[in-house]
Amino acid sequence: MTQSPMQYVTLLGSTGSIGGATLDVLARHPDRFRVFALSASTQVERMLEQCRRFRPAQAVMLDAAAADRLAAALRAEKIATEVLTGSDALQTVARDARASIVVAAIVGAAGLLPTLAAVRAGKRVLFANKEPLVMCGPLFVEEANRSGAVVLPVDSEHNAIFQCMPDSYVTGHRAPVRRIFLTCSGGPFRNTPVRELAAVTPEQACAHPTWSMGRKISVDSATLMNKGLEVIEACSLFGIAPEKVEVVVHPQSIIHSMVEYEDGSVLSQMSRPDMRVPIAHALAWPERIDSGVAPFDPVALGKLEFDAPDRERFPCLELAYAAARQGGTAPAVLNAANEIAVQAFLERRIRFIDIPHVIEHALVGARAVEPTLDNVLADDAHARVLAEEYIAGGARSRALGAS
Ligand code: NAD
Ligand code: MG
Repeated sequence: MTQSPMQYVTLLGSTGSIGGATLDVLARHPDRFRVFALSASTQVERMLEQCRRFRPAQAVMLDAAAADRLAAALRAEKIATEVLTGSDALQTVARDARASIVVAAIVGAAGLLPTLAAVRAGKRVLFANKEPLVMCGPLFVEEANRSGAVVLPVDSEHNAIFQCMPDSYVTGHRAPVRRIFLTCSGGPFRNTPVRELAAVTPEQACAHPTWSMGRKISVDSATLMNKGLEVIEACSLFGIAPEKVEVVVHPQSIIHSMVEYEDGSVLSQMSRPDMRVPIAHALAWPERIDSGVAPFDPVALGKLEFDAPDRERFPCLELAYAAARQGGTAPAVLNAANEIAVQAFLERRIRFIDIPHVIEHALVGARAVEPTLDNVLADDAHARVLAEEYIAGGARSRALGAS
């Protein structure tokens, strides 16, 4: 096989959990990949370490003061990385012609505009950042078709589905799929008695049993909203209706999803629960490269279990299905309200069990209009206001009740 020429990679969100896993894979293949640009919000120390090691041409810090500190430290060490700042700079690096691959690993709606810029510029875009696909998936598909961008899923379930589709959606040929089973670990509260959920802390919610991840997605995994967002993500990426996507609890996190075809065949992809597997797959596709993950050992694993999700305990899953069926801007509103609710829970302003109520309240602001960029941005902003008002109202009534 002929070796591919050197490929330059821009990594948006390099200081996060996916960012670190991506750099780990890239470092194993210096003959194949080089880092063009890195980005982070505020973490100067981690970014400085990454610049020392990977020598990117550019580094973006969202925060201006953080950018100044990084630039001074780089100058002192005579490292030639150019430092940029602000959200426009994220879009500029995402579309820069010097990189052919963009890894979207920012968390939340903040990744929407830079990721869209990468798609519009026709890059190979590796999507870990699922929220933009939830907000306006059809727009991403349309823009990718127009620009020739290759959109590859890094979210482990969607990467698994992609691997189970031999006539892949990338080539435009869709095989007749009967159902997709999205697997779900069940999160840290799978067996917690419902009455105890009111008192769970952010620390407990972030202690995921099988995956080590950023705080926002960890809370989403605990509420099962992560799986709800993934249902919508799957509908967008694979052009499938929500009724055909089923969530199944699989505590071992070894089978990353399954695709059932019309003839009854079910294909699945398995691996250790380590994000370097889907990252390496998407970086090299259609080739295969070492991800650094230890060999699979089915005997040591013993057994694989499956169960139905508890929809009463985890109302967020049902809210996501409802938003998927509703369409329009409902998925964007669901996502925005969830971001606000999760942040409020992490800051101990609301309880874990309040999260679905905040989202349900904000969903009244969803509209049955095309999820164009303008509509999505407007309804995202409105949903954030509705969610914050609801949270503030709750805090007020708690304060009154206590007085
Ligand atoms: P994280 O919190 O660990 O990292 C987020 C990164 O984004 C950091 O580099 C941070 O500096 C940057 N960032 C945060 N806010 C920003 C903003 N407003 N503007 C610009 N940059 C900002 O998150 P993570 O766990 O790595 O997750 C990243 C994305 O990947 C999320 O969308 C998540 O749902 C998805 N994902 C993560 C995993 C996982 O295992 N961690 C698995 C599947 C999908
Ligand atoms: Mg996932």
